[in-house]
Amino acid sequence: MHILVTGGAGFIGSHLVDLHLQRGDQVHVVDDLSTGVRANLAAHEDDPNFRFDEADILTWDRLDRAVCWADRIYHLAAVVGVYRVLAEPTKVLATNIAGCERLLRAAHAGSWKPQVVIASSSEVYGHNDEDILREDQDLSVSTRAGTRWGYSVSKIADEALGLSYAQRFGIPAVIARFFNTVGPRQVGRYGMVVPRFVAQAVRNEPITVFGGGLQTRSFCDARDTVVALDALAQRADRNTLIANVGNDREISILELAQLVIERAGSRSPIHHVPLREAYGEDFEDIRRRRPSLARLRSLTGFEHKYTLERTIDDLIAIE
Ligand code: NAD
Repeated sequence: MHILVTGGAGFIGSHLVDLHLQRGDQVHVVDDLSTGVRANLAAHEDDPNFRFDEADILTWDRLDRAVCWADRIYHLAAVVGVYRVLAEPTKVLATNIAGCERLLRAAHAGSWKPQVVIASSSEVYGHNDEDILREDQDLSVSTRAGTRWGYSVSKIADEALGLSYAQRFGIPAVIARFFNTVGPRQVGRYGMVVPRFVAQAVRNEPITVFGGGLQTRSFCDARDTVVALDALAQRADRNTLIANVGNDREISILELAQLVIERAGSRSPIHHVPLREAYGEDFEDIRRRRPSLARLRSLTGFEHKYTLERTIDDLIAIE
């Protein structure tokens, strides 16, 4: 297959590149290296099936050709991470929405309609009191309850764009709502909780828990995420679908801190940092975020290979 990955030098994108090159597919990556790094792709630099272009998805002049070449496109290029999202809100909207529109327009312009996999997010569910988040939930409820920031709005817009191009122009779209994804190559500097805890624990520095730590999350290893994505894309074929992609094991941030300390054999104490201090502005954290995986499982039979303990152990070994 011919695979185009936008944002392929990033955390999740680089694992997708690994998966498809290992399978013998040809992979073309476009990335502006704003948060992604070439080192994530170092293993493939000499692979004749691999091609890399450093470019901004908003202005890349080879986009049309690359899209025409592709059988499947994973659109991951986006401005992500709490700190960047708070510091550069207009850039988030510009990159995330216009980037998706430009890509879909290019897919529409060609005679061959590639399959487009759009990286959406659990952020579309907003502040939400449901114990488990299902794809068929009415998003206008989460929108009324208050999405957290432009990032969430940008992902809702990307989903709407994907569905619109699918309905109007027959471009098959897989909309994957990623829940918290963790694993090797995730950069900690923008506040990603697991790499930050691991780095602190390995150095026996205080583990900084933002807020009370009773908020819960469900963490999925990126190496599982990309297998699930590929399985969904295969299953969807020329159809359009929306599915949660994540892990439904739930853990509080405080329990996560304790687990990392235990796995690292660390002497780190736990320090609570008020949310305002951590993010530099008033901030209401999401209380709970757990995906329903019924749709993913029924469509693909997907099973996770990586437990949270295994992911943490791998991160400790790399640190
Ligand atoms: P990442 O920052 O590692 O990946 C994003 C990549 O996009 C980076 O390599 C970056 O350099 C690139 N990029 C940004 N702007 C670009 C532009 N204008 N042109 C070209 N490339 C550009 O983050 P990630 O965690 O791998 O996220 C990948 C996708 O998954 C994103 O769309 C993100 O919104 C989504 N997502 C991630 C998570 C998660 O937990 N990591 C959760 C929900 C959704």
